[in-house]
Amino acid sequence: MMGDRDFRTIIKNTIGSIGREFEIHIDSKDIQTIHLQEVVQCLRRSYYNRIEPQEIESSGFNDLLSGLLRKLQYGSEPKEFPINDINLRSQADMVADDSILLFRTAPSELESPHANDVLYLNACMWIYDKSDGIIIYITGDRKETTFSMTRNKKMFEEVIRRVKILNDLLKEQKTPILEPSADCSDCQYFERCFMKKVNTKQLSLAEMLGLSKKN
Ligand code: SF4
Repeated sequence: MMGDRDFRTIIKNTIGSIGREFEIHIDSKDIQTIHLQEVVQCLRRSYYNRIEPQEIESSGFNDLLSGLLRKLQYGSEPKEFPINDINLRSQADMVADDSILLFRTAPSELESPHANDVLYLNACMWIYDKSDGIIIYITGDRKETTFSMTRNKKMFEEVIRRVKILNDLLKEQKTPILEPSADCSDCQYFERCFMKKVNTKQLSLAEMLGLSKKN
């Protein structure tokens, strides 16, 4: 607290409102439109986000960076890819000549790109019909690591499979299976997935073994 103002709350609210301004809006009732970012992350998380959402503390800087780039004049327009009666909706950060560009933040220079970024980039290459893709990771001290790739059909087929699974599970109101990964520790649903409340009634060893005295 400084004077009458709680600066922490002001900063938190400001970052929150910038994040909301830039985030991609998902209509949770429109299950025939699946967004690309929903299927490159854990499907269970995407399902909860639509069915029983729980607010995340704050958007990551990745979301802010991508959101800002999409709003700039060289940001790309969203594009849809039909899969039977489902529309897969995606938005690349930037499309330049024959390449798709994604920008992400990273705490330090990376040895290899994150798997979900690779899936996202590859799918964008198919959806925008471009042959090359580049992911640029930027660190806090403005160092950049760039990875380039050409499109891969099998990887895109896996994304299509996940779109169909998420659509089916949303229709049937069935929760997807756990997809444990490093992302779980930052996930707002961690407790729902891993720390279900248990009956804390204390049992003695004899009771557990069924050896309790009978009257
Ligand atoms: S905690 Fe892990 S498995 Fe559960 S929804 Fe989140 S990312 Fe998915």
